[in-house]
Amino acid sequence: MSSTTLTLVFAGFLLASLLVRLWLASRQIRHVALHRDAVPAAFTATVSLAAHQRAADYTLAKLRFGLVSLALGSAVLLGWTLLGGLNALNGWLLAAAQPALGDLGYQLALLAAFAVIGGLIELPMDAWSTFRLEARHGFNRMTPALWLADQAKGVAVAVLLGGPIALLILWLMGAAGPSWWLWAWGAWVGFNLAVLVLYPTVIAPLFNKFQPLEDGALKARVEALMARCGFAAKGLFVMDGSRRSAHANAYFTGFGAAKRVVFFDTLLSRLSPPEVEAVLAHELGHFKHRHVIKRIVGMFAISLAGFALLGGLSQQVWFYGGLGVAPNLAAPNDALALLLFLLAGPVFSFFVAPLFAGLSRKQEFEADAYACRHTSASDLRAALLKLYEDNASTLTPDRLYVRFYYSHPPAGERLAAMGALA
Ligand SMILES: [Zn+2]
Repeated sequence: MSSTTLTLVFAGFLLASLLVRLWLASRQIRHVALHRDAVPAAFTATVSLAAHQRAADYTLAKLRFGLVSLALGSAVLLGWTLLGGLNALNGWLLAAAQPALGDLGYQLALLAAFAVIGGLIELPMDAWSTFRLEARHGFNRMTPALWLADQAKGVAVAVLLGGPIALLILWLMGAAGPSWWLWAWGAWVGFNLAVLVLYPTVIAPLFNKFQPLEDGALKARVEALMARCGFAAKGLFVMDGSRRSAHANAYFTGFGAAKRVVFFDTLLSRLSPPEVEAVLAHELGHFKHRHVIKRIVGMFAISLAGFALLGGLSQQVWFYGGLGVAPNLAAPNDALALLLFLLAGPVFSFFVAPLFAGLSRKQEFEADAYACRHTSASDLRAALLKLYEDNASTLTPDRLYVRFYYSHPPAGERLAAMGALA
């Protein structure tokens, strides 16, 4: 391939993905707006018109915000690649940092500078999303001080975790010969397994308080359910999600001995004990169907393909030239190759995203079916309705938009599937 060919293919895919995203967003906007003034027939008994309109307004506001962030993201991507931003940053660091820091230090500085600039560009978007979008729709509970503290902790975690793995991968790229990508993949897998263990016990507690679920009627129910489903009833925690947001959730994290179930306090305050039990049964369903393990193994398989591809691409001059960067002649190009791969990859992978979204929705149906077998289907229905309503998820999404993006089926499809089961 020549540089020009890659430039054309990249620009073509970027344009096509933008057009598809715009088309899908406009379909979703039209569809939600069109159905804003009537609760769908299946929900007239359970959802008020006010709640339905609140969900529509929130969905529309998020879509419009998404379009702004899509425009910004595309401009930044073009700025880094074809317009020469990364090339300029690299040229500057090569002159300023490489003589003093050496090859590895200069490459690490390039990754760090890229991350800092990217983070600074994203910061106002994140602030807007939290303090305007979420706040206007009654979800934000974060103070500016807490938001700033979160950002600072996020940077610290990124430096402490990201720094060493970036350094290790750069070193392997330079020192491990033509099959470096296999070694780097092994390091990546090890790193991710370590994070999976560290996340619930070390990282998440930096941001939230986790308290063991208190004794009482709820705990007794939950323990009985877990015993019934063959789980060791330990590791039940309540998280102070209400410090940041009114959105409610529950999740299952870690594996082996580090396994734990986390309930947001916002979830416990909204759902009755039988409904919480039904939500937990859904989470246990994910575990029983091995969705967690499948997702991890799938991620590792995809990253292996990614590293192998990068192993080949990083040797090609057209890979750099085609994406707007002149490769270094007197210094290694590993950091550049990594960055270009991370920048350009999503433009191409966008078109397979619906596959993964579809798989995820299928797993949600399986977890729902599991929950209906082990608890009451009507409790799960009631819990889901409350959650969809509290999170202001629209009941009337566009079909194609759902197929492309939704990791969870819309409420109507889930309740219909459960109705068929009951
Ligand atoms: Zn689920």
